[in-house]
Amino acid sequence: MKDKFIPLAKPYIDKEDIDAVSSAMKSGQLSCGPFLSKFELRFSSYLGIKYACAVSSGTAGLHMAVKAVGLKKGDEVITTSFSFIASSNCLLYEGIKPVFVDIDERTFNIDSKKIERAITKKTRAILVVHIFGQPADMESIMKIAKKHNLKVIEDACESIGAKYKESFSGTIGDVGVFGFYPNKQITTGEGGMIVTNSKKIYEDCCAYRNQGRKKNLSELKHDVLGYNYRMDEMSAALGFSQINKFNKILKKRKEIARIYNLELENIPYIILPVVLEKRTHSFFVYVIRITNGKRDFIQKKLTEKGIQSKKYLPEIHLQPFMKKIFKYKKGLLPITERVSSQTLALPLFYDLCEKNIKKITGIIKENI
Ligand SMILES: *Cc1c(COP(=O)(O)O)cnc(C)c1O
Repeated sequence: MKDKFIPLAKPYIDKEDIDAVSSAMKSGQLSCGPFLSKFELRFSSYLGIKYACAVSSGTAGLHMAVKAVGLKKGDEVITTSFSFIASSNCLLYEGIKPVFVDIDERTFNIDSKKIERAITKKTRAILVVHIFGQPADMESIMKIAKKHNLKVIEDACESIGAKYKESFSGTIGDVGVFGFYPNKQITTGEGGMIVTNSKKIYEDCCAYRNQGRKKNLSELKHDVLGYNYRMDEMSAALGFSQINKFNKILKKRKEIARIYNLELENIPYIILPVVLEKRTHSFFVYVIRITNGKRDFIQKKLTEKGIQSKKYLPEIHLQPFMKKIFKYKKGLLPITERVSSQTLALPLFYDLCEKNIKKITGIIKENI
């Protein structure tokens, strides 16, 4: 019998979600309508933050966050190369240089002990990524930022619901950005959200997303250079419906990670996700490290059985266009490069059953 395909990720969509999107469609108001503010209000109250601004993607949100904290052409921003490309692209859009600092080998997040060494006269901000759903070392990062007068942007696109001590990721720095692409913990199709406690950053982002129009929307007055980074009503309705069931989704993702951990613990050459103290992990993906050089072989065996997996993540500094612009070379970030050659993301989605988890871990154990 042919093996049934098991994808890496799959959105959780139920009848409530479909009804919400239908009602947005039936309302006749397909953009700039009531679902947008309903979603924003629900999102900000979930996180316990003052302002939320829904946008057309996580990347758009990051781009606006970079502008809203006042970064400009020629500035340098300290960030991580072990991330999805968007967290660096948002700097390049504005002519800002990403300065990469190596990662903590346990969490794959930026190593806060190496940040100060990378600060120059041009450094204006730290762009933190909470990779795979685990918050970075925010206490140390905020201390360094304060000492050197740097802004902090949190790319929380992978870490909705994760906490550093009592605070949700995305709410600790000057501004945080979430993403709702269909492989994320909750989805709006395409979409994102900017959150902040600063009225100024919020108002600037609202203007940027809507062609630079501030406040009085009845006039066609454009105060600053803006974009069309708006979220439409169908997406906002889906987001509102999804955030209302997020706790249920998060619980299930943690349970799946727990089963994976049980099945794969004490297997030689496999390193499981490490969750450091004072933080909770919201499992955007479940990523293992395979240290005996067999990662690609195991991926091939999984593919043969219809199981999708992914090499998460390739280093940003070694992407062809980055190498061309900044002359980055292999060897620049030894830990990032080693981790990147060993990591493999395994399927993780709401209705992944225990039987299939065991099938996946069985193939890994057979082939390690
Ligand atoms: C998903 C993601 C984004 C945003 O992606 P969009 O597809 O633009 O919504 C940004 N940064 C990271 C680290 C991500 O994983």
